[in-house]
Amino acid sequence: MQIEDKKIVVMNYTLTTDEGEVLDKSTDGRFAYLHGADNIISGLEKALTGKKTGDNLTVKVAAEDGYGMRNDEMVQVVGREMFESDAELEVGTQFHAEGPDGQPIMITIAAIDGDDITIDGNHPLAGVNLNFDVSIIDIRDASEEEIAHGHVHGPDGHQH
Ligand code: ZN
Repeated sequence: MQIEDKKIVVMNYTLTTDEGEVLDKSTDGRFAYLHGADNIISGLEKALTGKKTGDNLTVKVAAEDGYGMRNDEMVQVVGREMFESDAELEVGTQFHAEGPDGQPIMITIAAIDGDDITIDGNHPLAGVNLNFDVSIIDIRDASEEEIAHGHVHGPDGHQH
C-alpha cells in the first residue's frame, strides 16, 4: 500500500536542526496521522506521498516551508505594565496573546532590561530548517469517521 490521501500513516520520526539538535520525536516510536488533511507540515506530507511500508527517508523542510521565516516586526519592546502585576517574567516565558489580525499567537519573552520587556511573537521554530528522519511502520485506509473528523482514531490517535 502506498501513502496517498485518506490513508492513515504510522511512522517513527526524529526531527533535528541542521546542527543535529533533536527538537522532537515520536513518542514510543509511533506517530500516526491522516494523510492529505494538513495534520503535519505540508513539506513533509508532500515528501511522504507515494512512499511504502518499510521505507526510510530523510526529509529536509526549509524554514520557509516549515514554520516560516523570522519576522523582525514581531519583536517589540513593551513596558512591564503590559503584564499582570503578579506575572512571573523570565527570559523564555511564553504567553498566549492576540496577533495583529486577532489570531491567537504565542509570544516569548526574549529579553528583560529593567522595566523594558522584549517580546517575540515569532514561532520558536521560525527560521529553522527542519530535518525529519522517518521510518514508515504501517499504512492503512482511513475510516469514514476519521476522514470526516480529519484525524486518526484508535490506539495511535484520538480516543473518543
Ligand atoms: Zn475524531
